[in-house]
Amino acid sequence: MTTTVRTSAFTEPDRPKNLQIRYLNQVGAHVDVTGSGEHAENNRWKCHGCKDTSRSPETDWLFWMREKASAHASACRAIPLT
Ligand SMILES: [Zn+2]
Repeated sequence: MTTTVRTSAFTEPDRPKNLQIRYLNQVGAHVDVTGSGEHAENNRWKCHGCKDTSRSPETDWLFWMREKASAHASACRAIPLT
């Protein structure tokens, strides 16, 4: 018996060791927040659909990156092409 939950039409990319949060955009592409987590300023986000990433600043506290990545996932409609 498997406990895997399929939440996307696309194959889930490998989970990097420093993956903190993984969102799905409007069409099921993954939006990842990676970094050292809650008490570090080196967190960043990247969308596997449209390839957009965090910038200005590129890295920040997790609570800021969480909000920005979540907002991006809510608006993005790009599918992953690879
Ligand atoms: Zn996107």
